[in-house]
Amino acid sequence: MSNIVQLHDKRFKPLIPSTEIHAAVKRLGEKINADYNDKNIVFVIVLKGSMMFAADLIREIAVPCRLEFLKAESYGSGTHSSGAVKINALTSMNLSGKDVIILEDIVDTGLTLKKILEHLAELAPASVTIATLLLKPDVCKGTVKTEYVGFEISPLFVVGYGLDYDEIGRNLPDIYVLTEEE
Ligand code: 5GP
Repeated sequence: MSNIVQLHDKRFKPLIPSTEIHAAVKRLGEKINADYNDKNIVFVIVLKGSMMFAADLIREIAVPCRLEFLKAESYGSGTHSSGAVKINALTSMNLSGKDVIILEDIVDTGLTLKKILEHLAELAPASVTIATLLLKPDVCKGTVKTEYVGFEISPLFVVGYGLDYDEIGRNLPDIYVLTEEE
């Protein structure tokens, strides 16, 4: 894992190495397989940030599953949430009577997931649970129930493994955090 990474005007330092990420994803996959062993799953993948997490997690899934995609945008180009969340379904989203698992990269305030849950509720799924790679519990304060969590982290801005800073950094295999001097 390389040391400091510069993205635009900001510097980031290592937080979670890819080996730990993959171990956590494997553990989540095993838990989902056990919980859904007699079911079919529809994964709703929240782009762009969760594409790496989704790609790795679904390869751990042993039960039949379908993939749907939506786009949620809240951060704009900064490192703090803009508060406004825009949701666009990118695929058919025929979720009526289905067991849905939402795949998110990170839950910060929980606002994005609340909007997604409201949106999905109108499509009458049988059940909806949430899997997120990262959770900032101090910020989220239980606003949404996250059943599957890879890591709980402190309320700092992170990049890598799908997560961006102003659209770059998604390709980093490890997760990095904004350096303290920022
Ligand atoms: P929330 O609505 O829970 O506050 O924020 C959720 C969304 O904001 C995430 O899906 C992600 O796109 C973005 N986000 C929240 N925290 C971070 C972070 O630390 N780094 C990055 N790159 N995006 C974040």
